[in-house]
Amino acid sequence: MTVLASPLVGVSNDALVLLRRAAPKRPLFQPFEKGLPPELAARDLQLFRAFHQRFERLARVVPTLSLERLLEAIISEHDYDLAALAQWDGRRRYANMRKLARLARSYEELRGPDIEGFVRFVREQEAVGARELEAVAEEEDGDAVRLLTIHSAKGLEFKVVVVADAGRDRAAPSPDEILCLPDGRFGFRVADPATGERRGAFEYDAVREAEREEEKAERLRLYYVAMTRAIDRLIVSGAIDPEKRADAETPIGWVLDRLEARELDEAEHGTVELLRDGASLLVRLDRYRPEPLSALAPEALGSEGQLELFAGEDVPLLPPPAPRLPDLSSVPEPPLHHVRSLSYSALALFGRCSYRYYAERVVGMRPSDGRGSIPGQSGLAATEIGDAVHVLLEHGVGAGDVRDPVLARYPAATEEDLVRIAELVRAWQGSPLALRLAQLERPRPELAFAFEHDGVLLHGRLDVYAESDGRALVVDYKTNRLEELTPEEALEDDYALQRLVYALAAFRAGAEEVEVVYVFLERPEEPVARTFVRAETGGLEADLSAAIAAIQEGRFVPTPSELACSGCPALDVVCAGPRLPGRARATAQA
Ligand code: SF4
Repeated sequence: MTVLASPLVGVSNDALVLLRRAAPKRPLFQPFEKGLPPELAARDLQLFRAFHQRFERLARVVPTLSLERLLEAIISEHDYDLAALAQWDGRRRYANMRKLARLARSYEELRGPDIEGFVRFVREQEAVGARELEAVAEEEDGDAVRLLTIHSAKGLEFKVVVVADAGRDRAAPSPDEILCLPDGRFGFRVADPATGERRGAFEYDAVREAEREEEKAERLRLYYVAMTRAIDRLIVSGAIDPEKRADAETPIGWVLDRLEARELDEAEHGTVELLRDGASLLVRLDRYRPEPLSALAPEALGSEGQLELFAGEDVPLLPPPAPRLPDLSSVPEPPLHHVRSLSYSALALFGRCSYRYYAERVVGMRPSDGRGSIPGQSGLAATEIGDAVHVLLEHGVGAGDVRDPVLARYPAATEEDLVRIAELVRAWQGSPLALRLAQLERPRPELAFAFEHDGVLLHGRLDVYAESDGRALVVDYKTNRLEELTPEEALEDDYALQRLVYALAAFRAGAEEVEVVYVFLERPEEPVARTFVRAETGGLEADLSAAIAAIQEGRFVPTPSELACSGCPALDVVCAGPRLPGRARATAQA
C-alpha cells in the first residue's frame, strides 16, 4: 500500500480501496495477476499497469544486479529521484536515497546479496536509530568534522577518516548464564552442589566458545567497516602494548598484525613507512617512556605542593609533532560526460536534440511513455507505435493479425492505434522495397552490429540487412507521421550520422558497397536511398569522429522540433521545448 500510494506509483486513495476490495483476503498483488478491478479510473489503471510492467521487468533482472544497482534501478525506473527532488526538502531526501544505496553496497559486501536480509536490516535500523541515520545522510558531504560511532558510519564515505582510540577494545564479559545457538546447541551454568563452584552444563563451554568466535568475527567486520570509509586518507590512532595478547585484538593491533609490520620491532620513535602492495602506510611511533624521576621529585613540586607544569626541560609537555603527510593532490574535475559506448539511436538522438540526449543518456531521465503525458495525445506514443511495427515486421506478422500481439505488448493501444499499426504493416508488406528484399538471398531482420571507433563502442540493430556479391542493402523503417513533408525533407540531416554508422558497420563486415534506404511506411513507394562505396570510408570515419568529439565535449543545447520533443522526458520539466524562443535553435545551429 505504501509503495502504491507513494510517488513510486502514485495511485489515488480510491484505487487503493478498490484494489483491497478486489482481493479482500488475499495478497494485495493478486489483482495484478488475475485482473485489476474494472471500476478503476483510467489514470489509476494506467499507473497500475505501468507499475506492474516495471515490477516484472525489475524482478527479471534481480539475479543480475547487486543490491546497490537494484536500488538505483528501482529509483530511476520509477523516476522516484525526480519526485523526491521536486519536494521542498528534496536535497535531503535525495541524499537519503544515495545513502541507502551505499548502505546496500556495504551490506552486500558483508552479508551477500540477500534482499530480504537487507530489508530486515533497514527496518531494524529504523527501529533503533532512524533519526541519526537521516541526519548523517544530509551532512555527509558537509564541510565539517563529524564524530560518529562505527555503526552509524556504515554505508558512508568521507575524504579523510580518523579511527580514534583504536588501541582499546574491551568487549564487556557476557553475563549470560544460559546460552543458546541458532543451530540448537545450548548450555547453562549451575552451582556444583558439593563445592558451590559454578560449572557449565550440557554444551555450555562449546557454546560459549562459539559465541566468542562470533563476537570476534563481528568485531573484525566492524573494524573493516571503520577502515573502509575513507576515500583519500585513513588515519588509525591508538596505543597498544605489543607484549599483551589482548591488545592484538584491538583495531590497531589487528591492522599491524595483518600488515606483518616487523619493521616496527627495530624502530624506536618517529615515523616508519610501510610499503604493502603499492600502498604507503606511515606509522608514527611514540613508544612508552617513563617520566623522569626528577619531574616527580619533591623539589619539582611548587611551594603549594603542586606539580609545576612548566618546570624541567626534560619533561615532554607535548608529544613530538605528527609527521607531515604529503598534501592531497587535487582531483581534476571529471568531464561532464565521458562516452564509452553509443548506440546508433543515441547518435540519432544527439543529432535531433543534444539536450534531450543529455536528459536521457547522461542524467538518466526516462522518455515518457506518452500515455496521457503528451498534451492532446491518448493511447500509444509515436515511439511505441514504431516499436510495435518493428516487432511485427521482424516476426513477419501479417497486417490482419496485429491485434493480439500489439495488445499483449501494449495493453493501452486504442482501436485507432491498432488500425494505424495494421496500415503501416500492410504498407510495408506491399511495398516495392519489400518485394525487392524478397528476391534477395537471406535478408536478415533486426541484425545486431557492434564496432569500435575512437575508443567508443558503436552498436545497434539494422531493421533489415541483406548482402549479395559484396553489395550490402540496409533498410530502416520509419513510422513517423510525415504530415506535409516529403520523406527527403523529413530526414533532413537528422539521420546523417545514423546512415554513416550503418555504412561503416557494413564496410567493417566486408561489404564493398552499401546502400542505406530509409522508408517511411506512410509512403513506402518513396524510399530515400544513399549509396556509399568503400573509398568513402575515410570521410565517413572522420564525420563519426567529429560527432563523437562533439558528444565528448559535452555541449548540450535544446533544438526543439515536433519529432524531437514528442515523448521527451525533459519537456516541461527542465525544458520548454517548442515554446523556447526561436533563438535556441538558431544558436544551436550556429
Ligand atoms: S523538449 Fe524538445 S528541445 Fe527540449 S530537450 Fe526535449 S527534445 Fe530537446
